[in-house]
Amino acid sequence: MKFNPEKCTIPDRRMEPFIDPAELWAHINNNKADAVRVREVIAKSLSKERLTLAETAVLINAEGDLVEEIKEGARELKKKVYGNRIVLFAPLYIGNKCTNNCQYCGFRTSNREAKRKTLTDNEIIAEVEALEDNGQKRLILVYGEHPEYGAEYIAHTVRLVYGVKKGRGEIRRVNINAAPLDIDGFRTVGRAGIGTYQIFQETYDPEAYKWYHLGGKKKDYEWRLTALDRAQEAGIDDVGIGALFGLYDWRFEVMGLVRHTNHLEACYNVGPHTISFPRIKDASSLNITDKYFTSDDDFKKLIAILRLAVPYTGLILTAREAPEVRSEAMAFGVSQIDGGTRLELGSYSDSKNEEQNLNREQFRINDDRSLASIINELIDNDYIPSFCTACYRLGRTGEHFMEFSVPGFIKRYCTPNAILTLSEYIVDYASPGLAEKGWQAIEKNIATLDEGMKQSIRKKIERIRNGERDLYY
Ligand code: SAM
Ligand code: SF4
Repeated sequence: MKFNPEKCTIPDRRMEPFIDPAELWAHINNNKADAVRVREVIAKSLSKERLTLAETAVLINAEGDLVEEIKEGARELKKKVYGNRIVLFAPLYIGNKCTNNCQYCGFRTSNREAKRKTLTDNEIIAEVEALEDNGQKRLILVYGEHPEYGAEYIAHTVRLVYGVKKGRGEIRRVNINAAPLDIDGFRTVGRAGIGTYQIFQETYDPEAYKWYHLGGKKKDYEWRLTALDRAQEAGIDDVGIGALFGLYDWRFEVMGLVRHTNHLEACYNVGPHTISFPRIKDASSLNITDKYFTSDDDFKKLIAILRLAVPYTGLILTAREAPEVRSEAMAFGVSQIDGGTRLELGSYSDSKNEEQNLNREQFRINDDRSLASIINELIDNDYIPSFCTACYRLGRTGEHFMEFSVPGFIKRYCTPNAILTLSEYIVDYASPGLAEKGWQAIEKNIATLDEGMKQSIRKKIERIRNGERDLYY
């Protein structure tokens, strides 16, 4: 995407830090949340406009019943604009060597208890085969920050994963969560055909950032903050941002995420593809206080606020959270979740390792259900699970923006593609009980489509039943 000097907030300095803590706090402190104002802001979002920082601050300051109105607004936006589809993926940890010293992470260099490991190529293949046997189609590869995990190595692992085909299984989208690269590095991983490049700022407050990042390259707040600008310069316009909630005041982090979004939009004409909002979980040698602990209530409120503030961006909710929190928070506009998640290196293919061992993984997960049981619950709750990768493969980048802004996009593409990928899953991997439930859900969703699409999709489902794969619109 081309640099847009007309709209960029800092035209000649777009690679420089764009977070001004005093500005963000001034918004939080000066925008009061009376009922009229909160309702105006919700209405603006429902009319499909992104919110300004001042408007986001109004929602942050809302309390009591107004928070319920915000959640209701988020639910309505999700239903009206995105329909009932939830995209599924799984994380695959490639290596946990790390030269950084992040106080919240079990992989940090000073944690002597951590069992260090980098998967060999054969182990990566075994993991991907196990994930394919489960029905996964979308992965996010995760790496510590270490000289062994440079751009060439990341690109190599991405190609390796795309090359693994077991039975009818294949991985159709490989996303990345790894350390910031330079522009050449981003070009290298871009050429390997990655989906989203995800980097979380952890905390947008530069001072708090210093407390937690005590060693290694990650100490450099600015290098991290401007990473996704370098990705854009390298031609990767599909990027994911995030903050780790619990490091600092959640209100400030929400403002930081919206500011980061505005910055990318203004400078490159494209906002982030996804926003993540992990909360800190127990980890080996965790070294943080609970001063900024984000409660379940604040967590749900902040998800609803993000949904309304950046209505066109995908929201990711991971297995760090317990099933109850996930199923409630999902209604506020989450679009992607992981399922069947294991964090221990090599544990997808090694089923002996049932118990979580914090010395072998980055943090504790609280939802360790299988992919099948997550799919089962999604269907029970009237969602349609999706493994769709169509937009990205057809070059329809910015798909969340299209879903959001192109009338009929969901009905023409997203729902049919969710139905087709669920059909594949059912035929290839589901138990008889889940299959029966899945076909019923598919019938229910077909009923919502136009006549032409109904006929077309039935033909495609027949082709899937007859052994064809990877059909999409
Ligand atoms: N090493 C890369 C980096 O730091 O960007 C890869 C990221 S790390 C493997 C993925 C993310 O997990 C981090 O960006 C951080 O937000 C999150 N994380 C780290 N420790 C965590 C914890 N104790 N609980 C929850 N999430 C955590
Ligand atoms: Fe290393 Fe990333 Fe963990 Fe920090 S968060 S210690 S950089 S793996």
